Amino acid sequence: MQADTSTKFWSPPVAALRPYVPGEQPRIPGLIKLNTNENPYPPSARVIAAIQQAASDGLERYPDPESLALRQAVATRHALQPAQVFAGNGSDEVLAHAFCAFFRQPGQALLFPDITYSFYRVYTQLYDIEAEQLPVTEALEVDVDALIARAAQGCAGIVLANPNAPTGIGLPLSTIERLLAACPDRVVLVDEAYVDFGGTSALPLIQRYPNLLVVQTLSKSRSLAGLRVGFACGQAHLIEGLTRVKDSFNSYPIDRLASAGAIASLEDEAWFAQACRDVVEARETLNEQLRALGFEVLPSQANFVFARHPQHDAAQLAAALRERALLVRHFNQPRIAQYLRISIGTRAQCDALVAALTALL
Ligand code: PMP
Repeated sequence: MQADTSTKFWSPPVAALRPYVPGEQPRIPGLIKLNTNENPYPPSARVIAAIQQAASDGLERYPDPESLALRQAVATRHALQPAQVFAGNGSDEVLAHAFCAFFRQPGQALLFPDITYSFYRVYTQLYDIEAEQLPVTEALEVDVDALIARAAQGCAGIVLANPNAPTGIGLPLSTIERLLAACPDRVVLVDEAYVDFGGTSALPLIQRYPNLLVVQTLSKSRSLAGLRVGFACGQAHLIEGLTRVKDSFNSYPIDRLASAGAIASLEDEAWFAQACRDVVEARETLNEQLRALGFEVLPSQANFVFARHPQHDAAQLAAALRERALLVRHFNQPRIAQYLRISIGTRAQCDALVAALTALL
């Protein structure tokens, strides 16, 4: 059978989808991967021990459909109740469920910046949500006043990554509060995938704002991208909405190994604090080195930097780095096509990048 006849079997909306394209994960020996914002360090040894233990204990049984032990661990760490925590298979899944649960509001548009995590756009297509993307400013900052003015006319909700991706720029808590107040009848979703690297979390606002949903992940600051665990925190009525969607989709999104590893990670505060410090320190060093090479670097509160060189084309730089087995992310997209997004690696990986760039420039 010819492969190109196969689309006739698809549901029509599937043919119209434009799926998210993750950064490439090639298997090249000696490759330095600074393209998908993973943490360069392995997770806490306690995580590995917990997963090994879990592997020998009960894999023949389904896991807890409510992921109660994991939700309790998140709740304990953030001074919340388990009923205020939802867990999912990576924060991408949590985000998808949130879009489905809160933003399918007929005749109203979901608001988010034009430069942000590109999966938001994909979820709006998947769930047939009207999207209105508000331009970021010249400095690539979220235009908060424009968002507030637009929200006042009615909307399906607001989604923000804080710190934003791929810029790394963070918003203060006072700004998040202004948005929450401007959109009291719809959910304001704050995606805090990168918050542990110097951002300010909105979690302390949860008790006061019934419309706030905060989404976090263990993929970045806890070095567990391979385990696939993310969570959302909000008042119990929001968690209930998410749970309805989850229970209409997959009863067991968190497997036994993921649950054990995630709980062990959440309990290892010392490892976590050190790992975040290491990444932030390496980021600040890389920042200075890139500036010394003539790059303009946006102020980042994340585990990546977003930088452009006034004399060198970003796509060409990315391609030349790739030839040297160094992967960075380039988005061929209006307004940011001259930027490179560089994930923070180990000290040695960052040094290798700087050496390669020095040779190239
Ligand atoms: N939000 C943002 C802003 C991200 O950059 C990512 C990582 N690509 C995610 C969410 C998803 O992370 P994960 O599914 O690994 O939890």
